Amino acid sequence: MLLRLIRWLTFGLIVLVIMLRLYEHVFTGDQATTLESARFALFDSFQAFKPRESQEYPVEVVDIDEESLRRLGPWPWPRQHLTKLINNISAMGPSAVVIYLSLADTDTMSPQHIARLLPPGDAFNSARERLSTLPDTDTALAAAIGAAPVVLGFVPSNNATGTEPSLKVPAASLQNANTGILLSFPVATNALQQLQDAASGYGSFPVMARGTTTVRQLPLFVSINKNLYPSLTAEALRVHANVDRYALSSHGPLPWLPGTTWLNTTKVAIGPLNIATDAATRFWLYFRWDNPFQHISAWKILAGKISEKRIKNKLILVGSSASGLSSRVTTPLGQSVPSIAIQAQAIESILGGTFLTREGWADLAEIIISVMLSLLLIRLLPVWGLPGCALLTLGLITVLYTVSWHAFSHAHVLVDPTFPSLLLLVTFLSQSFVIYVTTQTALVRTTWIAEHDMLTGCFNRRAWYDRVTPQTLHDSTATGGLIAILDIDFFKRVNDTYGHLVGDEALKHTVNVIENHIDENWLFGRLGGEEFGLFGPDTTGTGSPVEPGASSNETLETIRIAIANTPLLHNDLSIALTTSIGVARLTAGESLDSALGRADEALYRAKETGRNRIEFG
Ligand code: GH3
Ligand code: MG
Ligand code: MG
Repeated sequence: MLLRLIRWLTFGLIVLVIMLRLYEHVFTGDQATTLESARFALFDSFQAFKPRESQEYPVEVVDIDEESLRRLGPWPWPRQHLTKLINNISAMGPSAVVIYLSLADTDTMSPQHIARLLPPGDAFNSARERLSTLPDTDTALAAAIGAAPVVLGFVPSNNATGTEPSLKVPAASLQNANTGILLSFPVATNALQQLQDAASGYGSFPVMARGTTTVRQLPLFVSINKNLYPSLTAEALRVHANVDRYALSSHGPLPWLPGTTWLNTTKVAIGPLNIATDAATRFWLYFRWDNPFQHISAWKILAGKISEKRIKNKLILVGSSASGLSSRVTTPLGQSVPSIAIQAQAIESILGGTFLTREGWADLAEIIISVMLSLLLIRLLPVWGLPGCALLTLGLITVLYTVSWHAFSHAHVLVDPTFPSLLLLVTFLSQSFVIYVTTQTALVRTTWIAEHDMLTGCFNRRAWYDRVTPQTLHDSTATGGLIAILDIDFFKRVNDTYGHLVGDEALKHTVNVIENHIDENWLFGRLGGEEFGLFGPDTTGTGSPVEPGASSNETLETIRIAIANTPLLHNDLSIALTTSIGVARLTAGESLDSALGRADEALYRAKETGRNRIEFG
């Protein structure tokens, strides 16, 4: 029963490991699962080994860095600075200006706001009046935003106070995505309405997904209150490409099977750019070294110290790397960078066509390949044996990792070798265990068969010899071993009178009686026919050498009497049996065969002198 269960162990483990793998798709915790972590670690190491090569990208980061804050004052800046920054940038003809800063609150330093802060009373009336007639700084900022291809962002949130963001593209152009699978939020913290209205693009700031410390993937779309919205990355690219819509298409390997949309590949077209993403519209970033972080200091733009060609036709990201103003995140290369650098790398990856792809169906394909390889291994194990299949497993794992590396380095495609390798290892180890247990069980059984008499279940001649021989060689002479041959009297008659089957019963019966009267000091076996061998301690004489004439042994005598007194009961018949026993005392250095010869002679004498007796030789 247990053995039968063990045979299914490997299949059970395969199913279990696959369930763990599929669990990732329903798991919504913050940490990566163990299987995911293994996969991520490998992909990270690939990138660290061969990072994206730096090339000329039409992307620049304008950084409100520590130096800018030192020169122009701490954050938050008065709106005028930001307005001027945007105006200065747009004067140089950028393709897009992405503001990577939250503009959710009204300007606390606007003249109107300051007017409200003045103490009540007539003394400040004129100041209040003067201030409130000044132009509103948010309106001025909105004007700057409206005059340039500016992209603003909103923060997806679970806050009850959030609102729905405005959409800058026709909703119809976003129809084909699987909204259910996207990162979803009920509301968003939005930029001021007039700024939103003025902007050319409006998208979601990156939401750090699972495994939050290291950024690997970014979504192109998110879902807010079940409606689709582009991410800041998508909007930046769209405004840069100067198009007013997206084209999305989503295809899966099993379109007829409900619940499999997570396997879909979503293709996103933004003008001339085509990006293959997973079902949740996430793409994998391919990182380059960004150390030190490459940027233009904001103060230099404000001071007019930057030449036009650094900005012209470029996608400009405006943000801050200043500590306290920006969060820092880790790249797969292990570098800690301000989050705006990630945004820049994401855009570069896509513009350069050097982002990494992992098709939506990759998960399924990998699971199927893993199962097929594991079944192959199970099939080959009995043929190739453990060493052969150990080599095969290592070979397959090597091939998987090599394929994965080449797919990454030549085609920028992410293929996971960790899961198939894990499944192969689990299969190999578990199936080796199954084979070990089943052969071990078979060995125990064949050994038993080889050593025991089929009819009576006692030791056969060979097993008895094998066990007695070492005893005769070593300590038996000291303890005074006895070798006895026991032969059933007139056994032929039993056979002749009652038939062979009853004769067999008589043999079993005799063995039973004998076994009931010997302890573990005795070795007992069937020598052949109705002759049995017994080897045990000589308890007649305590000292050595044993007196040759002594002619009794308690155990043997008990056996003889017990057999004589216990007739075989068979189908109302009571068949009396007696035995004759020839015994030899082992002498020093004597071989078992020689002792058996003497016992046989003694047996002959026992038969001659009337049977049902013991003779010593
Ligand atoms: P004795 O008292 O002189 O020993 O007489 P006996 O009839 O026992 O003489 P013998 O040793 O010649 O007979 C042995 C018989 O045991 C012969 C054979 O048919 C029978 N025999 C041997 N092996 C088996 C067996 O496995 N089953 C049965 N039923 N009979 C067996
Ligand atoms: Mg006999
Ligand atoms: Mg005989």
